[in-house]
Amino acid sequence: MTAPLFPPTHSEALAKAAAVDPERYARTRNALTGDVSYLSPYLTHGLIDVPSVLQQVAAKHRIGWDTKFVFELGWREYFSHVWSHLNEGIWNEPHDPPAQRYAETMPADIVNATTGVPIIDQQIRALYSTGYLHNHARMWIASYVVHLRKVSWRAGARWMYAHLLDGDLASNTLSWQWVAGTWTGKPYLFNAENVARYAPGVDCRNTLIDQSYEALGAFAYGNDFVKAARIDGAQMIEPTVSAEPPKHPAIQRATEFQATSPRAWLMHPWALHPPQLDAQTPVIGVINSEFHARYPWSEQRWRFVLDAMEIACSHILVGTTDELTRALKGVALHATQTLNPHYDDLIARLVPLAPLPPRAFKNPNLLKRSFTSFWNHINREAFPL
Ligand SMILES: Cc1cc2nc3c(=O)[nH]c(=O)nc-3n(C[C@H](O)[C@H](O)[C@H](O)COP(=O)(O)OP(=O)(O)OC[C@H]3O[C@@H](n4cnc5c(N)ncnc54)[C@H](O)[C@@H]3O)c2cc1C
Repeated sequence: MTAPLFPPTHSEALAKAAAVDPERYARTRNALTGDVSYLSPYLTHGLIDVPSVLQQVAAKHRIGWDTKFVFELGWREYFSHVWSHLNEGIWNEPHDPPAQRYAETMPADIVNATTGVPIIDQQIRALYSTGYLHNHARMWIASYVVHLRKVSWRAGARWMYAHLLDGDLASNTLSWQWVAGTWTGKPYLFNAENVARYAPGVDCRNTLIDQSYEALGAFAYGNDFVKAARIDGAQMIEPTVSAEPPKHPAIQRATEFQATSPRAWLMHPWALHPPQLDAQTPVIGVINSEFHARYPWSEQRWRFVLDAMEIACSHILVGTTDELTRALKGVALHATQTLNPHYDDLIARLVPLAPLPPRAFKNPNLLKRSFTSFWNHINREAFPL
């Protein structure tokens, strides 16, 4: 059996952070084969936080505001800053999209990775098999979906979120808006030459993306779209996504739970690394079915989360916010808060003063609409290490 690419443990997160070489990262990160950190599933699910990543890197390397790796972590904290101000408003468009009409569902040939554009098909297959995509691949797929196929960025964002191990509502939704041009007013476009530079060996000449930026721009602003490739007879390969966790021996319905301890640490999918606890404090995991009814996950993402929970938890409970609140009433709980809908409400009810995960950089009181204004605001202060 081959080792999983992303073992869901804190020690793996620490090892990945300790392996970051900021100089090599800056030089190679744009290429698909570049030396990126693969930390995103661990950051999204709270197996490590941004300040701890920076500490691991700073233990071996000099880093500061001008370090590219720090700057990229800044993007993560920027998106989370926007989310903390707008909540569900991250789904609203501050700017109109370039064209007038977009389809509301994902075409079958895209979800089946049979578009005929080699880089798109190859990377969608990689997403399905690993649950991970390089940043450039995410940008290319999103741009192809929105600007060439004229599919709404919301449909694309929901589809990609469901298959990513690191699916993060802030980074994913706002990045799709950024590519669509609805966040900044400027669409992101790419062509075969760009692919040849960052994914050498994947030949996209003489395909739909082999066009000048001028032609691609005209297409993005027009109402024509590229028709779906035929998929007659093709085997469908999109993995199932589900609102329900797969069968797992450690899971039980919240309605059947009887508490046996007067206190516990509450673990949820965005805080999978509990603090040091005494032997009398068990860890109870919760899965909020209302969140997952809105945002279903692939089986491999469920496994990532449930395997991490199984290591730490005496029980894993599934239920609605009301069911979980009733099941845990009377237990003195501690937890980390999250911005994820329904989970935020659940934790606010059970642990009213639970803190959000620590940030490396300040969260400005007023919303900064652009990354540049966010970055200029935070880096007026001393570097936080
Ligand atoms: C369309 C689209 C969808 C995306 N969806 C997600 C998502 O659901 N979850 C998610 O974590 N990231 C998302 N990103 C951002 C970025 O692609 C990933 O964070 C990054 O590729 C993860 O790989 P890594 O950990 O090896 O990154 P590295 O390059 O090693 O970067 C280190 C860390 O910095 C942060 N980071 C790096 N680049 C970005 C970026 N552009 N935006 C925000 N944070 C960044 C991440 O936390 C990442 O783990 C998306 C980007 C695009 C264009």
